[in-house]
Amino acid sequence: MKIFTSGLVTETNTFAPFPTGLKDFQIVRPIDVADGRPFTDWAAVMQVFREEAEARGWEFAFGLHAVAEPAGTTVRSAYETLRDEILVALQAAMPVDAVLLDLHGAMVAQGYDDCEEDIVSRVRDIVGPDVIIGIELDLHCHVLQSLVDTADVICIYKEYPHTDILDRAHDLVKLVAETHEGKINPTMALYNCQMVGMYLTPYEPMRSFVDDMFAAEGKDRVLSLSLAHCFPWGDVPHLGTKMLAITDGNIQQAANVAASFGKKFVAMRHEVDTKPRGLKETFDEAVAVGNGPVVIADATDNPGGGAPSDSTTALREMLDRGLTNTAIAMIWDPVIVNIVMSTEVGAILDVRLGGKLGPMSGDPLDLQVEVVGIIPQMVQDFPQPGSEPIALPCGDAVALRCQGIDIIVNSLRGQVFTPQVFTNFGIDVRQKDILVVKSTQHFYAAFAPIASKILYMDAGGALQSDYPSLPYRHDHSHKYPWIEDPIVT
Ligand SMILES: [Zn+2]
Repeated sequence: MKIFTSGLVTETNTFAPFPTGLKDFQIVRPIDVADGRPFTDWAAVMQVFREEAEARGWEFAFGLHAVAEPAGTTVRSAYETLRDEILVALQAAMPVDAVLLDLHGAMVAQGYDDCEEDIVSRVRDIVGPDVIIGIELDLHCHVLQSLVDTADVICIYKEYPHTDILDRAHDLVKLVAETHEGKINPTMALYNCQMVGMYLTPYEPMRSFVDDMFAAEGKDRVLSLSLAHCFPWGDVPHLGTKMLAITDGNIQQAANVAASFGKKFVAMRHEVDTKPRGLKETFDEAVAVGNGPVVIADATDNPGGGAPSDSTTALREMLDRGLTNTAIAMIWDPVIVNIVMSTEVGAILDVRLGGKLGPMSGDPLDLQVEVVGIIPQMVQDFPQPGSEPIALPCGDAVALRCQGIDIIVNSLRGQVFTPQVFTNFGIDVRQKDILVVKSTQHFYAAFAPIASKILYMDAGGALQSDYPSLPYRHDHSHKYPWIEDPIVT
């Protein structure tokens, strides 16, 4: 058996004012992983595919893996360049028995509302009807029926925070292998919940919903279940939550199971869509807790959702309140990082920090700061229980201290995954009263064990969650929360 693998991953926030260009992608090509060199950071799924292939005695072909931090609509030529490089590599690798793709599911490019559907349909054109196409998607995806029709197996992350990226890659390989061996005949069906929201899986009733999906898999010929949460800031016509079921050789059963779980999810709509709370209210509560560290998610300035990550609103509030013994990470300001990198620990600098990308970033802050740490090319680990953590780059990073607040500033836009963004600088997070992190939920996996309390804050950033108030171009008026009872067709 021979497999061809590739990945093209970004989540497009169609409201973001800065597009995603070719230079924004971290690209891994075959030369980068020649001679057994491992796939690292966001290409870790490729490493799973390769190790699985080696263990199963398969021939492994690899085209390209490209990942960009979520931002605005991808520039057409950037998407087409990367897509075509994958397709040319696939052509060269033919004949293959299966194609395994690591995609996001919410990638939009100029002229393409659904890049995943475009690329998979082109893959199908090349390989023909008999080659198995398996896809792994981020759960913040918008799955089209045509994608389900074109692919053979789709596995979607179940956890948010995404601590199961590598587990789902193993699931995908297993299903593709069993399909190739003729042990199973995957039949997929999709149920459209006609809902838009953000759902955090550690909390009830999401926790039980996810556990119920796990419990149903492997029984009664149910092969795999996935909830495609959707990405609310991706304004595509097919924006919305979908339930995907894969059964063994029975499309009607797949449709029934998808509808059963999907209807159950629609019934939970008021409980599952969590909203962050306001700035003042959040800090009032954090101060009232009394023992630290209280971890505050600066959720609406999460770069992982396409926000700039340079909002100063939370820091301004901390300064105004005189909240010493606190810390905030990571403000994206490559200009300031560049300046600080040429100084040294102990330097006192006047900086104009953050607030540059747009009106929702607040105003730049003119601060006198002490440099307390400089780390070139800092890395943080994203925990993946059961596997090695995924090591993710932060770019150059510096720690600045101002009025008792430690401020981590970095050069590569990216959200906070672990306390390492503080501890790498020698900051003792357990002794802090408040830690503010620019992340919606991925921080949760590594911060929950140390947090005295976790609060989700809307500091007026770009990722506003009153969806009907956002300037969508496409019509979502038949979906929840635009209407109370979504019109399910
Ligand atoms: Zn996601």
